[in-house]
Amino acid sequence: MTKWRVRCTECGLERDLETGMDLSTLKGNRIYMYCPRCRRNTFHEILGRSED
Ligand SMILES: [Zn+2]
Repeated sequence: MTKWRVRCTECGLERDLETGMDLSTLKGNRIYMYCPRCRRNTFHEILGRSED
């Protein structure tokens, strides 16, 4: 699993997303997923891998 740092384009909430997918190959560098702050699906900008 890889951790990715993503940011909601609606409210700006940043969080980590753990996935087996390689998000660096996504078209437009964006992923459509649920935002807990917006409480709906929004576009999230992929900021890069989260190394920790
Ligand atoms: Zn949001």
